[in-house]
Amino acid sequence: MRIIHSIHEMQTIAKDLHKEGKTIGFVPTMGYLHEGHATLLKQSRAENDIVVLSVFVNPLQFGPNEDFEQYPRDSERDESIAQSVGVNYLFYPTSTEMYPMPLATTMTAVDRVDVLCGAKREGHFDGVVTVLAKLFNIVLPDRVYMGMKDAQQVAVVQGLVDDYNIPVEIVRVPTVREEDGLAKSSRNVYLTDQERKEAVVLSRSLELAQEMIHSGETSAESIISFIEKEIVINTSGTVDYVEIYAYPTLKQVDVLEGQLIIALAVRFSKARLIDNTVFVVHANKGEEITCSVQ
Ligand code: AMP
Repeated sequence: MRIIHSIHEMQTIAKDLHKEGKTIGFVPTMGYLHEGHATLLKQSRAENDIVVLSVFVNPLQFGPNEDFEQYPRDSERDESIAQSVGVNYLFYPTSTEMYPMPLATTMTAVDRVDVLCGAKREGHFDGVVTVLAKLFNIVLPDRVYMGMKDAQQVAVVQGLVDDYNIPVEIVRVPTVREEDGLAKSSRNVYLTDQERKEAVVLSRSLELAQEMIHSGETSAESIISFIEKEIVINTSGTVDYVEIYAYPTLKQVDVLEGQLIIALAVRFSKARLIDNTVFVVHANKGEEITCSVQ
């Protein structure tokens, strides 16, 4: 595995790989790797000649009162995980390498961002599309592996790729969970022992909500208030949002039918956690298809 810090070097390598006819699978991350990231990397390893991992905590996607400074970092551990799953190139730029001067042209995400995290984290997805547009041009990937844990991010980035005819395939990878159902996240380290126990309620309430729909519940409001109550009663966290939309358009639905997302965000003392489930409802019958969403 080679560790690359320079944009020019990474881009030159990517161009040479394409000249040799190699396919490049790319996994962009903010580091502090866990089994979720490793799953993306393993799938990329299986489907491409070359795997590129980027680790970059992108300041542009953090708001002024968010956890940019506190975001967990551990480069040695990241390197050994990357090595163990067969990464060929670890692209590890500094902030000054990525943003040497203020941008002359900025990117603004306008669709799919007025709900969920986009509504709560002003400018977050502008930062996400900006850094990914740069990374796609640096790494020149054929396929980009993204986790459905961040389902809104997947929807927004698919919009970016479609709008600007970026020649990459976005590959959606199902959420990787702890044994008790908690979605793996770099931010889970900031849960206290008690909060960690409580946090199982996030995934469990989503499962129960899906079962309610499966059993014929037709009111989005009832589902949302059920989940909110579960969180309020069983955790010390505060609900940031619980919402239901069509996926991937993230538009309101009058009737609970078609491909839907139920998504939530909960604030604990030092960590804000998100989770979601994406599934299809056929008329009166709910049917989960979390992995094969379109
Ligand atoms: P992050 O480092 O949090 O920016 O995440 C980098 C990539 O890993 C994103 O595409 C995430 O959606 C994905 N990811 C993070 N956690 C998980 C998880 N538990 N399961 C699947 N993918 C994940």
